[in-house]
Amino acid sequence: MSMMDEKARILELRKELEKYSIEYYVYDNPSITDQEYDRLMQELMALEEKYPEMYDATSPSQRIIGSVLDGFEKVTHDTQMLSLSNVFNKEEIEEFVQRISESVSNPEFVVECKYDGLAMALLYDDGNFTRAVTRGDGIVGEDVSNNVKTILSIPMHIPEMRHVEVRGEVYMPKASFEQLNKRQEEKGLAPFANPRNAAAGSIRQLDSSICASRKLDAYWYYFQNASDFAVQTQEEALQAMSKMHFRTNPLRKVCTTVEQIWQFIQEIQEKREDLPYEIDGMVIKLNNLADQRRLGSTAKVPRYATAYKFPAQEVLTRLKDIVITV
Ligand code: NAD
Repeated sequence: MSMMDEKARILELRKELEKYSIEYYVYDNPSITDQEYDRLMQELMALEEKYPEMYDATSPSQRIIGSVLDGFEKVTHDTQMLSLSNVFNKEEIEEFVQRISESVSNPEFVVECKYDGLAMALLYDDGNFTRAVTRGDGIVGEDVSNNVKTILSIPMHIPEMRHVEVRGEVYMPKASFEQLNKRQEEKGLAPFANPRNAAAGSIRQLDSSICASRKLDAYWYYFQNASDFAVQTQEEALQAMSKMHFRTNPLRKVCTTVEQIWQFIQEIQEKREDLPYEIDGMVIKLNNLADQRRLGSTAKVPRYATAYKFPAQEVLTRLKDIVITV
């Protein structure tokens, strides 16, 4: 492709990815698979790197594209809710570990499941739940407390009187998804495309009894104000959250080498089908929180963590053929 063609391709990709993001985040109704979306995003990022003069802060590669709908109170996050950079193979994991090792000596990593749901922040004061806020565009989210209260594993009271904010993922367990689509079928309604879109649609219901009937669940993986609690590592943060009654996933591992990381990823990938929830990859996080803070973030993603995305399992359902109702 000529330089002119490649620059034109950048503009074309930005337009296409924006359209797909709106379908995905605003209408919970994707028309392409996540793998195809990721492939187009990789292509865009490679071209943008080649032509830095084409930089645009509004490019899908630079923005957390989310949505904030009418109908829910808008809430500005205390600190931005970020996305994650992606890696797709062992070599890219090696590069990530190498990059971290350049600024941190003997780094430890926590490897966790990457849940395919929607990111959520939970806030507590004086031991009581105060609100639940979606990631939205990372800066402003939606107060969906009424719906989140229907998730029975989420504590309404915690044994901690100080302000607490935890973040994690709300998802639809595979069993709930099957039941939901069975009910849709019985009513002659179109099925939902996947648990992620069904979960996002459920959380945005204005009638919380609908959300309650969808039987969502959640895992919590980020202690936003851990530094107020003398918590020093991600592993300690997970343990501290668990003590406060937040549901954390024991399926995780502290690793020091790429080999250990890769082996654990393979182990989970083999179990993936049997897990009661959907995961689309694994997240690799630097364990030490002070080092995390030192490395900081770009406008969109933290530098101290990355997501390994599993390869496509099979030719996915042709999403375009499915009409999704929310
Ligand atoms: P992402 O899903 O790739 O990764 C970031 C998110 O992972 C975080 O925001 C968090 O919610 C989640 N996460 C799950 N488990 C986690 C854990 N243990 N620790 C930390 N975070 C964890 O990024 P995104 O910005 O939410 O979405 C982008 C992705 O969405 C794309 O890569 C693509 O796969 C998909 N997408 C698809 C379409 C489509 O049309 N099919 C359109 C837009 C986006």
